[in-house]
Amino acid sequence: MQKSDVLIIGGGVIGAACADELAGRGVSVTLIDKGKIGHGCSYGNAGWICPCHAMPLPMPGALVQAGRWLGDPESPFYIKPRASWELVRWLLAFASNTTERHLARAGPVIADLARHSLGLFAQFAATDGASADYRSNGLLVVCSSARTLEGARHEMEIAERFGGRGQVLDAEGVSDLEPAVRGSVVGGIFYEDEASADPLRMVQALARRAESRGACVLPGAEVISLDVDGTRIRSVATTRGTLHADQVVLAAGS
Ligand SMILES: Cc1cc2nc3c(=O)[nH]c(=O)nc-3n(C[C@H](O)[C@H](O)[C@H](O)COP(=O)(O)OP(=O)(O)OC[C@H]3O[C@@H](n4cnc5c(N)ncnc54)[C@H](O)[C@@H]3O)c2cc1C
Repeated sequence: MQKSDVLIIGGGVIGAACADELAGRGVSVTLIDKGKIGHGCSYGNAGWICPCHAMPLPMPGALVQAGRWLGDPESPFYIKPRASWELVRWLLAFASNTTERHLARAGPVIADLARHSLGLFAQFAATDGASADYRSNGLLVVCSSARTLEGARHEMEIAERFGGRGQVLDAEGVSDLEPAVRGSVVGGIFYEDEASADPLRMVQALARRAESRGACVLPGAEVISLDVDGTRIRSVATTRGTLHADQVVLAAGS
């Protein structure tokens, strides 16, 4: 039976980054994943590292959008309808947080965290993460109708309240910046401070560095059950054996 200070369940970007940071601080870490490292949600995302888009989901006006998305299986906010008090409670809490007060409280915290995270990604890419195709060349949001441009401008104004920097472009400005954009474009927003990376390669690079710092990385180890004693997890049974740790980080995705 293996024992470490910290056991991290889930080798996506969250688990790999936790493992890397903890191992760098001299903590003994085991990182496990039921499949390959980085092949969950962190595999198939767009790779944007964008503080300007890191705003709380519940914000003023979000209820109308959420209402449209909730029942659409193709939307980014679909929730399978089911009779569950837990779901009702969650939806009520979401609705009660779509206020200006909540945005004013949560916005600066999330924006600071996202900017700090961007700085860490840049630092990592300049050293051990060179293979992750990190690019610090901004984010261009392209809009094909006046309505979407208005929505994008509104998002930009919210981001600017919390220190973001965006620039509204007309169709010509978009095409000057990115001649490859074709079709009916009415304009866009350019966020010059944003970055992007290859998400899978970034996670793999983080896990590699964690390993080089002494972490034990175990792919193909699916958690089957937890042996719980009150509020403590005594051990974790996996398909690769039982693991013990003083602390367990659950980073198994949503
Ligand atoms: C279409 C799309 C585009 C996106 N674009 C962006 C973007 O551009 N920028 C951005 O910042 N975010 C983006 N996101 C969000 C981002 O991908 C997620 O927030 C992020 O990947 C979550 O990382 P994670 O480590 O929490 O989860 P995951 O990457 O899902 O990792 C969780 C891991 O846990 C493992 N696991 C689950 N259950 C068990 C178990 N029982 N035992 C062991 N292991 C287990 C899984 O195999 C998986 O590898 C996007 C999401 C989507 C869907």
